[in-house]
Amino acid sequence: MNLMWAAVGAVVGLMAGAALRGTVFRLSVASGDPERTACPRCSAPAQRRLAVRCGGCRRSLGIPLALELCTALVLALLLGRFGGQPDVVAFGFLGVVGVALAAIDIAVQRLPDPLTLPAYPILITLLTGAAIAGHDFAALLRALLGGLSLAGAYLLLALVRPGQLGGGDIKLAGVAGLALGWLGWPILIAGAALGFVLSAMASLALLAARRVTLHGAICFGPFLLGGALLAMLAGGR
Ligand SMILES: [Zn+2]
Repeated sequence: MNLMWAAVGAVVGLMAGAALRGTVFRLSVASGDPERTACPRCSAPAQRRLAVRCGGCRRSLGIPLALELCTALVLALLLGRFGGQPDVVAFGFLGVVGVALAAIDIAVQRLPDPLTLPAYPILITLLTGAAIAGHDFAALLRALLGGLSLAGAYLLLALVRPGQLGGGDIKLAGVAGLALGWLGWPILIAGAALGFVLSAMASLALLAARRVTLHGAICFGPFLLGGALLAMLAGGR
């Protein structure tokens, strides 16, 4: 862990988290509903970006500082681990998008396409840049195969056990698979497995606390992303 890079990551993360606030607010709506454009309390129009508080009633849009601090932590860990390597920009991008997606999944139990789908071309472009800079086209090929494999595995799981995983989880698995595959097959497998381990642990804890019933689904996106993050930090090159 390089502390200089970690500090850079924390500062960039704070700013990225603040910039995400408007996007997370806009996309935190139930499936099929139009994007939120107004304050839920006073109906004043919400700003598209950098909206920390409603301009009308001053109500905070989301938990104050939660997005900023989470993004700062994730980027500090990722830059501390991968800073100075060609793939750091790709991983930093995934970290920022991942925090936004996790926040929306926790709020409204969905992973919106307007955030997940553009992540594919952007991440593939950034990894292609890293492959050119590092002369590592084997890693790029592995990333593409990793994305396909993880999305395919999630699709199979969703078909075998309907209701557990949604379409958003399958699409997000492909994005995470790109980054995990770039780092290697063992890391892809570890990241995928850790997602399910974390989710099972959280379900057991919530069951014990009687916060959910045995068949009540909890959102899976944050665990998928958390598992991928842990595997990347533990096993990166
Ligand atoms: Zn308001």
